[in-house]
Amino acid sequence: MNLQKLEKTLSDQPKYRRAQAQQAIFKLLVNNWEEFTAFPKDLRDELNHECPLEIQAEIHTEDKTKKAAITLDDGNVIEAVLIKNVDGRHTVCVSSQVGCPLGCTFCATGKSGFKRNLTALEIVSQVLLFARELKKQDDRVDNVVFMGMGEPLLNWFEVKKSIEMLNDKDGINIAARSISVSTCGLPDGIRELMKFPLQINLALSLHAPNDELRRELMPIANSYGLKELLAVLNLYMKEKGRKVMFEYVMIDNVNDSMNYAEELIKMFKSLPRNLIMVNLIPYNPTGGFKASPAPVIKKFRDTLIRGGIEATIRESFGSRIGGACGQLAGKK
Ligand code: SAH
Ligand code: SF4
Repeated sequence: MNLQKLEKTLSDQPKYRRAQAQQAIFKLLVNNWEEFTAFPKDLRDELNHECPLEIQAEIHTEDKTKKAAITLDDGNVIEAVLIKNVDGRHTVCVSSQVGCPLGCTFCATGKSGFKRNLTALEIVSQVLLFARELKKQDDRVDNVVFMGMGEPLLNWFEVKKSIEMLNDKDGINIAARSISVSTCGLPDGIRELMKFPLQINLALSLHAPNDELRRELMPIANSYGLKELLAVLNLYMKEKGRKVMFEYVMIDNVNDSMNYAEELIKMFKSLPRNLIMVNLIPYNPTGGFKASPAPVIKKFRDTLIRGGIEATIRESFGSRIGGACGQLAGKK
């Protein structure tokens, strides 16, 4: 899809056609201009030729998860995942970059290197793809999480635009509170988020209670220590008054000992306790590490809860089709 070409094709048309076209794409979710009979036949043909609406994707299904490998106009492949939650609501996990430059040791995307940032429309198209599918069953996308390939705060300009497009009442109309951005923790990016007026959610990939261990897992921790990160999060939480979800991947014998749980409880003392929520993510195999056993994860959670920290365990979806957290590597 190319909105510049759309503009160009509509440039000699009456002005209202542009709004109609936007509505066709983002509200009526048409796949093909042929379906949009509000436009005359010759215009539909021209649009299908100049600005086709098809999204080139291969979709794999496992239980309640669908993974789409989407081929972009330049041939790069990105991945998006649709998850059906237990309450029946649908979440789309979107990518924000082709690959990721940050190279976390446990993450398949990080190992695949970095190609480029996605445009806002390339991000929104991932949601459109699944929204079109769901519409056939009279269903819709309820939540969007930026937890696919890439670091959203390294592409904030386009990510911000995509959030505004997703939130548009005259378009896909996804509530800001149903949109979450996950970051490995970039202080400048978090300061930008603080200025963003929409009430979206922030998830922070923590994975370790101290800098030493964090640096082993996440190279970015060499640039920003936990002290600086916690200070900016403290400002964010106070300014926004919103919960932050701390993500913690549970890796066997690496970061899952109960001492680390105790250390986390101490670390969190500098933040408003009622705004902290820890989400323990069972590690999805990407090579190199092993997942923590389920009883260890439960014990870790219970230790946090006893320490007064709200903690949950993420249900892992889609690991067989490589669609779970950290397994997205842009391979078809
Ligand atoms: N770059 C952002 C968002 C994409 S990663 C970030 O790092 O937050 C989304 C989440 O998946 C992060 O919390 C990340 O740490 C986690 N993740 C990465 N690899 C994983 C793996 N192999 N198993 C489980 N979770 C993983
Ligand atoms: Fe990038 Fe996030 Fe993967 Fe780290 S975990 S390499 S920041 S996508």
